[in-house]
Amino acid sequence: MAEQRSVAVRFSHVSRHFGEVRAVDDVSLELYDGEFFSMLGPSGSGKTTCLRLIAGFEQPTAGQIELHGRSLVGVPPYERDVNTVFQDYALFPHMSVGENVGYGLMVKRVPKRERQERVHDMLELVRLPGLADRKPSQLSGGQRQRVALARALINHPNVLLLDEPLGALDLKLRQQMQIELKSIQQRVGITFVYVTHDQEEALTMSDRLAVFNQGKIEQLGTPAEVYERPQTEFVAGFVGVSNIVRAEAARKITGEPVSFSIRPEKIRLCPPETPTAPDLYSEEGMIRDVVYLGMYTRYLVELRDGGDLTVVEQNLQSTSMDALAAKGRQVKLMWKKEFNRPIGGAGSRSG
Ligand code: ADP
Ligand code: MG
Repeated sequence: MAEQRSVAVRFSHVSRHFGEVRAVDDVSLELYDGEFFSMLGPSGSGKTTCLRLIAGFEQPTAGQIELHGRSLVGVPPYERDVNTVFQDYALFPHMSVGENVGYGLMVKRVPKRERQERVHDMLELVRLPGLADRKPSQLSGGQRQRVALARALINHPNVLLLDEPLGALDLKLRQQMQIELKSIQQRVGITFVYVTHDQEEALTMSDRLAVFNQGKIEQLGTPAEVYERPQTEFVAGFVGVSNIVRAEAARKITGEPVSFSIRPEKIRLCPPETPTAPDLYSEEGMIRDVVYLGMYTRYLVELRDGGDLTVVEQNLQSTSMDALAAKGRQVKLMWKKEFNRPIGGAGSRSG
């Protein structure tokens, strides 16, 4: 990035090994002040361990972590200007909502009057005004998570760590909370480090994200960069859905034996006689399978030259009947050459 931004968290060649397990394996990255940064990856890829390293619950086996330019070596968790929000809320059940939110201020001996004001402001921020006197057990899952968020933000930490905070919520509520979390983050301007295994969540909320696989970063960039230019086969498959076309099959299409990925929604299904154009790749084939998914339909097309490609089309004009009737039909697949993304072989890394 060309612009100069101040760095909130810096990992320099950080590893955390547990015996043979390389939970975090030589990770280097910089998180900027005030950004919404996501760590995205499958279960076991090292995301939580990264958060625990920042929070100080875990020590690196190698490498260094800095918070605002200050080395964290030997700094205990309570002296780090960070807070964590977990998936399971971890609210104090015997305390009211207001007491939960104000807890951090009470520990710091902030006078009661000021405490009440700040609790009030925080509850407004997370849209729970008037619920200060309830007990956590009298709240819904979504409301509890807002309380946890308010409690974590009330001390104005420099960095807020969030470990799959929406994981326990149902899809509708999760999507609503994603938008709200993002808007809260923008209002408070605190650096958020958000851990998730849900690619849609990471793409929706992040300014930038890192894709983790086996303790390493496969790719780091903005959501658009990672989605539109996946640099490895792992990223192409994990973030969204991709067709992966390997060397020999790729050569038949492009003339070069370079593996590439192509997103299913970038390919158009056309009648076989459709003329092609110089800026397009075109492949003939037969629709072998059709899956109607309401908003869109997924087609599996067997190519005449071998292999198959998945194509996704929005159901703008077509009904489920139209879509399903396409099975067995001969088609020409066409897509802009520029949509091909060359990828390294399995195991290649870019981080
Ligand atoms: P994620 O949050 O991406 O699911 P974690 O960071 O929790 O992944 O774990 C990464 C790897 O490290 C996993 O293989 C996990 O089993 C291992 N691991 C994490 N913590 C410990 C520990 N305290 N002892 C041994 N292995 C651990
Ligand atoms: Mg985890």
